[in-house]
Amino acid sequence: MTSPEPTPTVIITGASSGVGLWAAKALADRGWHVIMACRDLAKAEAAATETGIPKGQHSLMHIDLGDLDSVRAFVTAFLATGRPLDALVLNAAVYMPRLEAPLRSPQGYELAVATNYFGHFLLANLLIPGLAKAKAPRLVTLGTVTANSEEFGGKIPIPAPADLGNLEGLEAGFLTPVAMIDGKPFKPGKAYKDSKLALMMMSRELHARFHKTTGIIFSTLYPGCVADTPLFRHAPRAFQRIFPWFQKNITKGYVSQPLSGERVADVVADPGFTRSGVHWSWGNRQKPGAKAFAQPLSAKAESAPRSARLWTLTSKLVGLEGAPLQVAA
Ligand code: NAP
Repeated sequence: MTSPEPTPTVIITGASSGVGLWAAKALADRGWHVIMACRDLAKAEAAATETGIPKGQHSLMHIDLGDLDSVRAFVTAFLATGRPLDALVLNAAVYMPRLEAPLRSPQGYELAVATNYFGHFLLANLLIPGLAKAKAPRLVTLGTVTANSEEFGGKIPIPAPADLGNLEGLEAGFLTPVAMIDGKPFKPGKAYKDSKLALMMMSRELHARFHKTTGIIFSTLYPGCVADTPLFRHAPRAFQRIFPWFQKNITKGYVSQPLSGERVADVVADPGFTRSGVHWSWGNRQKPGAKAFAQPLSAKAESAPRSARLWTLTSKLVGLEGAPLQVAA
């Protein structure tokens, strides 16, 4: 008699609400053990209970992605559990479009880029050696349409499309007074879009550097417009009311939170998503039974030298310079 397959384990960052929570539910339903990596564990536990994620199929672990020390502490605590890792989902994000001045992380970096991008960059680097030991590992990153200038949503000029310029802000050290990756004046909505573009480029660079040696499948996805998640909690109230209606009735781009979770789970676990180095989309106008397709990013986002330079500058800012990732071939 053959022994049963062991339960696979996935870490999902920001699983206390929205896409991450519903991805946790979808993966638990498919038999996975989910590590919900969250900054508010009481909130995450309440959300898991309310969503019906069984007790035995999830664990909660603390992480504040805006604090590089907390990311390192999370990795130490996770490795101490001895649990093998099969997949990592980089999902957590903050969107603070109404800030008048930048907030700063404990390390002094602008908080949206620090949380959405730097924290995940460090987390991915520290977990890849362990992830590489899995049989069919995947590292899945939440991208977004507003960071993809190949799409209408990526061209919206309010406050400005994502644009990393020549990475002048990172080159300058990204500390006060610098608050944007391109070194230009602070625009909070653009800081979010820039952080997501940087993450999508990071995923391409991870693929270029580590896919062949580790077998890890690196991909990004746009799950659709999940217009009613708490991501928009800092947007004006009127926007929070109108946006879901507009997406449901006018653009037809609306995707429910449970469906967004199923899409993430597909990219993590489904045999149809084993291509590495791609960005998955289900299109902008949601139709029942829509199939995923691999979508190109802009030429700038696909530029290998540009992604390599972004990688080098970011490694330095998160404290990985001089400690490059070692993965056995
Ligand atoms: P959400 O419900 O606000 O979820 C964001 C999650 O990130 C929450 O669990 C939040 O935790 C967590 N988080 C925020 N800051 C954190 C920190 N410093 N440390 C640890 N966790 C932190 O938003 P969502 O819409 O589900 O977004 C999830 C992902 O989907 C994001 O990457 C977003 O860019 C992407 N996405 C969303 C849409 C959409 O239409 N909603 C579209 C495309 C892509 P708390 O509960 O503690 O705040």
